[in-house]
Amino acid sequence: MATATEKKTKVLELKNLIGGELTDSADGQMEDVVNPANGEVIARSPLSGAEDVDRAVSAARKAAGDWGKTTPAERQALMLKLADAFEQRGNEIAELESLDAGKPLHTTLEEEIAPMVDQLRFFAGAARLLEGKSAGEYMEGRTSYIRREPIGVCAQITPWNYPLMMAVWKIGPALAAGNAIVLKPAETTPVTTLGILGEMLAEIYPPGVANLIGGHGEPAGSTLVTHPEVDFVSLTGSPETGKWIAKAASDSLKRVHLELGGKAPVVVFDDADMGAVAETIAGTGYFNAGQDCTAATRVLAGKKVYDDVVSGLAEQAGTYKTGDTFDPETVLGPLNSERQRDRVEGFLERKPKGAEIVAGGNRPDLPGYFLEATVVSGPGQDSEMIQQEIFGPVITVQPFDDEAKAIEWANGTKYGLAASVWTRDVGRATRVSGALKFGCVWVNDHIPFVSEMPHGGFKQSGYGKDLSMYSLEDYTEVKHVMVNHA
Ligand code: NAD
Repeated sequence: MATATEKKTKVLELKNLIGGELTDSADGQMEDVVNPANGEVIARSPLSGAEDVDRAVSAARKAAGDWGKTTPAERQALMLKLADAFEQRGNEIAELESLDAGKPLHTTLEEEIAPMVDQLRFFAGAARLLEGKSAGEYMEGRTSYIRREPIGVCAQITPWNYPLMMAVWKIGPALAAGNAIVLKPAETTPVTTLGILGEMLAEIYPPGVANLIGGHGEPAGSTLVTHPEVDFVSLTGSPETGKWIAKAASDSLKRVHLELGGKAPVVVFDDADMGAVAETIAGTGYFNAGQDCTAATRVLAGKKVYDDVVSGLAEQAGTYKTGDTFDPETVLGPLNSERQRDRVEGFLERKPKGAEIVAGGNRPDLPGYFLEATVVSGPGQDSEMIQQEIFGPVITVQPFDDEAKAIEWANGTKYGLAASVWTRDVGRATRVSGALKFGCVWVNDHIPFVSEMPHGGFKQSGYGKDLSMYSLEDYTEVKHVMVNHA
């Protein structure tokens, strides 16, 4: 198989998609996009400004009226075409996503392409299942019914850890529900969104229904989300950006949908089936180099199994091979940027008293932004390592005394996205999953998700759901119509 460097043949010139046209930014400004596995320039991306945002939003507004009146069957047909296009171009998508985001190619092929195709097919079908909950005569001589209507123009902002999949989670429900969109990918990972999705949307959807613009949070993102003609804002990103958007949106009371960070606790009780624990936790903690808001990186282990969990994870960490992301043996890619690696290393440098790095912690001798798979034992509950999202290949392990302490510590951060409970006791599994304040709880597993079930947080992990009928509903307005026929 070719190496990532050999695979890159030319520097891609990315375009915005505005009103059905693939176009440069208004002032022609571009920026280099690098492969984080080796620092090589792989693309040049448009740096959009206020004029581009305005053109994209105007195009969406112009298209929204007719698009909102299409039948669910028409919207389903186009989304099925989009899903087919993803399937047909799966290898190309996987290669570009791996080059852009530093992902091992085989994991992108195995873990991202088929799920994205399935998610689009789910939303295609879901478009035809939107329903009002009730219709009837609640007052004499009058019939009431509920309509679910598109909101209008949705601004959508995606992060860099799963660039195209997060775009699918946003455009899927938005377009299925009859909205027009303007989406901005993260500045470090625009390649598959602008380079491939843009071409597909231009070919399949009517002009203006789906618009894409490249650029940074400031000015492109902030101008987009505060634009007066935008009705709804959806962000997958950091809590800081989420709070800024929620405040900015309060001026016009735009609706906001926020998928923010996480700090998933993995609660391993003494009676857990230890056969699979270390392997599964490492597999889901180091997946995507730990840059996953649901990553299994905060382990809480019962006193009797604590040593086994620590040594099992340290052993696993040693097997996580870094290197060329196109080599099938590579399982751990680089961090997404130098800034991100510096941030992760900062947590290790400031590790609290009593904590010990029992595996990894170093930069491998490689050109990109790699960091070894790392295990830290014993950080205290109040330490920043436990309270803040590290978003890198670092798994922490804390010992707990009893069930009450495990629940208290698991719930004891500002985040509430995902958690897992490991035990063979059905009563305990049910009790603890009920007590955990997270949007998703797995029992004896961690990380699998399906198109039919919602993904979204409690607390400062945000509000609003991705995937499932819940996300489709989030992208609609509920209208009550009452007809007087007395
Ligand atoms: P970030 O918030 O800095 O950037 C995310 C996106 O927001 C980028 O496209 C960026 O350009 C844009 N942005 C930044 N400032 C903006 C502004 N003022 N207005 C509009 N857009 C703006 O986050 P990051 O550090 O790049 O991404 C990683 C974070 O995303 C982590 O905290 C991670 O947990 C979170 N995340 C959450 C989920 C989820 O589903 N909950 C999924 C992936 C990532």
